[in-house]
Amino acid sequence: MIDLHTHTNNSDGTDSPHALVNKALSSGITVLGVTDHDTTSGWVDAIQALRPGLSLVLGAEISCLTEDDVAVHMLGLLFDGSNEKMQVMLEESRDSRLPRMRKMTELLTADGIDISLEEVFAAMPEGATLGRPHLADALVAKGHVKSRDEAFADLLNNSSKYYVTHIAPTPEDAIRVIRQAGGVAVIAHPFATRRGQTLSAMSFPSLIAAGLNGVEVDHRDHSQSERDQLRGIAGDLGLVVTGASDYHGTGKLNAMGENLTDPAQWEILESMADARRVITL
Ligand code: AMP
Ligand code: ZN
Ligand code: FE
Ligand code: FE
Repeated sequence: MIDLHTHTNNSDGTDSPHALVNKALSSGITVLGVTDHDTTSGWVDAIQALRPGLSLVLGAEISCLTEDDVAVHMLGLLFDGSNEKMQVMLEESRDSRLPRMRKMTELLTADGIDISLEEVFAAMPEGATLGRPHLADALVAKGHVKSRDEAFADLLNNSSKYYVTHIAPTPEDAIRVIRQAGGVAVIAHPFATRRGQTLSAMSFPSLIAAGLNGVEVDHRDHSQSERDQLRGIAGDLGLVVTGASDYHGTGKLNAMGENLTDPAQWEILESMADARRVITL
């Protein structure tokens, strides 16, 4: 059972890398992707927690913005974590999340939803990639909303007046850096319309020209018709098809292993990296 997209408390998941690995083992997962938002900081702990029966695919989910400001998530898997260009790109994105968060708290507070940057930090594990889910947790702690879901539905979604973007590469730039670092690029939940505006089928040729390897088709945020359409695009354009849970611990309903990648597709995807980087004991 192959689940290529999960989060730890190094970004907005709630499980430590150790807990994530244990959860994967107890869920019958055999190949686990660890893909925190804009960071590789969970890799070392995940490797330390590894036990026989599980293989690790280390990666990151890179937040991107198109030239028209459409938010896109790009999964980079099996890249060289010491690649300088990659680390600079991730760091720029993380650094800009602080002024962005300050701005969001100011907009909320000005509108009577009182919340401070300090309160957001109190809701964030140390060293994690700062994100809206931490703001959501702070809003829950303060009694403004009941859950992360309610915070996103009412206040923090991409169409909200409180939403602010942060510095992010274009999807094409992210793909190029992932590939230069030897990894493979898979676009995450590209048609997840409930998150706001998404890419159209017309964007795929440009992503492929940049080096895109695969597309995440089976994901909780895709309807059956969105999956059908994406499978068609993948077939037409020769992209590998993946499926994954996007597990976030208790931060989201997504259950580990609820969507999976076909082993034959995984074999193709893995062969596209420039080195064998799957970690198995
Ligand atoms: P950010 O990177 O700060 O813009 O936050 C985006 C992240 O928020 C996404 O990657 C999801 O993990 C998370 N998210 C989006 N919608 C929801 C939701 N309804 N409930 C919980 N988390 C969400
Ligand atoms: Zn997330
Ligand atoms: Fe995502
Ligand atoms: Fe994710």
